[in-house]
Amino acid sequence: MKYDLVLVRFGEIVIKGRNRNRFETMLLTRIKSALKEMPALEYIRSYARVYIQLNGESYEEVSDRLKDIFGVLSFSPVIRSALELEAIREHSLALIRGLGAAPSTFKVSVHRGWKQFPHNSLEMNHLVGAHVLRNTPDLKVDVRSPDVELKVDIQADYAYIYCEVVKAAGGFPLGMNGKAMLLLSGGIDSPVAGWMAMRKGLKIEAVHFHSYPFTSEQAKEKVITLAKRLAYYGGRIKLHLVPFTEIQTKLVQSGHDNLIITLMRRSMLRIAERLAEQHGALAIVTGDSLGQVASQTLGSMNVIGRAASLPLLRPLVMVDKQDIIDYAERIGTYSTSILPYEDCCTLFVPKSPAINPNLNVVERAEAYMGSELERLIDEAVRETEILLLKDDGEVVQQTQQEQKEDAWF
Ligand code: ATP
Ligand code: MG
Repeated sequence: MKYDLVLVRFGEIVIKGRNRNRFETMLLTRIKSALKEMPALEYIRSYARVYIQLNGESYEEVSDRLKDIFGVLSFSPVIRSALELEAIREHSLALIRGLGAAPSTFKVSVHRGWKQFPHNSLEMNHLVGAHVLRNTPDLKVDVRSPDVELKVDIQADYAYIYCEVVKAAGGFPLGMNGKAMLLLSGGIDSPVAGWMAMRKGLKIEAVHFHSYPFTSEQAKEKVITLAKRLAYYGGRIKLHLVPFTEIQTKLVQSGHDNLIITLMRRSMLRIAERLAEQHGALAIVTGDSLGQVASQTLGSMNVIGRAASLPLLRPLVMVDKQDIIDYAERIGTYSTSILPYEDCCTLFVPKSPAINPNLNVVERAEAYMGSELERLIDEAVRETEILLLKDDGEVVQQTQQEQKEDAWF
């Protein structure tokens, strides 16, 4: 089937007024950027939707990309017909015939936006429906719950005909709701949390803690691969690689074996918060899911969370593991996440991590390390390496200075 246009519908329809305009402008910019490899495409903006004129570009390619763009609710491939009854009938029939799976029931819904068209919508429903029925054996009409609803929108220039509605990612256009730092480990959960945060319109910068040389070069590559996948959805992503070895060593030496994970997580949050401040982010996103491991009990989350004053966003907190895995497969991170490289936290997992750490004990342990811990945190922030991951797969290393001058962020 050769389509002429793609009708794109926008998500989060509750947005009204000036925000609506901002939403649409940001979304259109994002769509154009994601489809920039197809220069012949033309964009026609109309209220709460956009028409993309294909001009010979492949619908399949456009569709593949569109379904992953945040803020796009759904889209439909459209045939454009001249404003003549016979042409509309023929195109409608061709559309039904061209469907992959032949429907057994259908209905026609004509909308006459241009009132000068000689037949009203009711007449048109019959005129088009009868033609399709006559020429498609075994097809029946079902007005209540048809397999296929054939839509014909009659406008002053053309009639627009379509019946497929493809569901897309939904949510808000990227960056519309500000920026957050994502704590990105090499696991299954945090990439999904990042994807969900982006779908809600948050621009993400990823922060990864590594314990090189205890963690391998492959572990780092794995996180870069995951961040690249997120960049496919997020346009481009900054990845902060934080050297965590010295802090970890210091914490291990403190002798609070069962509190190690709690202490490590608190230091991670402090560092993430410092990076957030430097980079204008207003929240920290993690892949925590309630009850999954010792550090994700309510007691642990409470003691860990108190180390940060920015809002901690945990999109997966109430999501079951299997559902998280399904998401990971859908967004294309699962196969990377399950690669078996050591994470900095798995290196020092104690035999019996505290599931209900005591805040006083934790604070006392930190106070005991005092300015030395502060110094190590300062140093880790200073020595953080920044990689810029572009959506075309290119990786650029940025110095602190270059990245201050990078106006895009
Ligand atoms: P994930 O699959 O995301 O690693 P997990 O089930 O393994 O999660 P934890 O290892 O307890 O859970 O980590 C909880 C959260 O803490 C992660 O989702 C992530 O946001 C953050 N985190 C853990 N380790 C790191 C790390 N090395 N670098 C950055 N963030 C981390
Ligand atoms: Mg993990």
